Amino acid sequence: MEKEKVVICQRCKSELSQITGHVCSRCGRMRHEHREEVMCGDCERWSLGNKTNHLDQNIACFEYNNFAKELMALYKYKGDYVLGAVFAAALQQKCMVKNKSIIIPLPISEERRYERGFNQTEGLLHLAGIPFETQLKREHTEKQSKKSRKERIEQEQFFFVENNTEISSREIVLVDDIYTTGATLHLAAKALKEAGAKSVSSITIFR
Ligand SMILES: [Zn+2]
Ligand SMILES: [Zn+2]
Repeated sequence: MEKEKVVICQRCKSELSQITGHVCSRCGRMRHEHREEVMCGDCERWSLGNKTNHLDQNIACFEYNNFAKELMALYKYKGDYVLGAVFAAALQQKCMVKNKSIIIPLPISEERRYERGFNQTEGLLHLAGIPFETQLKREHTEKQSKKSRKERIEQEQFFFVENNTEISSREIVLVDDIYTTGATLHLAAKALKEAGAKSVSSITIFR
């Protein structure tokens, strides 16, 4: 592993809250109070409404606090690409555990890629030196953020797999920048499972 690039100072870095200890077994959220349940309230509600779970588990690196939001805004929307290196070590560590799996970044549509100039998640993997594949594709739909949580969960499939033979019977790890409701990752996992994937889990920078 190469030496970590210094892109923000230690004081800023300390604003990032690493997820450790007791986490939700499903979405990777940090549990601040110790409780008996293995799943958080969101995941319990999700499980009750959805009988089939396509995404086995999400593992997250940091909590999505205010500093994280600022950092991601700079990286994602202001195009401060080099900031993505802040997460390289954490991402390498999480991906190392999944070394028998195919790493696939959550795709963005061609239109979005043109607008933003890059896929933010591919950028994170690239900066971390982690090899990935791109068989999962995404059709262009209206901006996710304009939809309500309910609409997001109920929306129809817009992911598709380009080459099924490479996915068939493989263990897949999806990578995304943030797990919010998990609906998008679940949709992507569904497309991969239907294409024959043996298992699908995910790693996100934030939860
Ligand atoms: Zn600083
Ligand atoms: Zn959860």
